[in-house]
Amino acid sequence: MSSLTMNAGVVVRSAGYFASDDERWDAVRRRDPAAVGAFVYAVRTTGVYCRPSCGARLPRWENVSFHATCADAAQAGFRPCKRCRPNESARAVASKKGPVDRKPAP
Ligand SMILES: [Zn+2]
Repeated sequence: MSSLTMNAGVVVRSAGYFASDDERWDAVRRRDPAAVGAFVYAVRTTGVYCRPSCGARLPRWENVSFHATCADAAQAGFRPCKRCRPNESARAVASKKGPVDRKPAP
């Protein structure tokens, strides 16, 4: 066996994967579970922000804004959705319990 194994790399899909609003909106419309954790979306008319996979009715595109984190959305004046509870993500819970979900520094 002389071939190099190239499959040990980790697929990077957080940063840059949902880089444009078009991609983010498409993920919201599809309720793409891969988008959860990459960003949240906020709805101006209701004043709440959601995970991309939230089962709530789709808002109108012109009322939607995207935020990288729950903290960003909260700072912009939005409240977490009571349905999908975006602020109770695994990351937020893990930070209380301990470094369970922490990724090691590269
Ligand atoms: Zn929601």
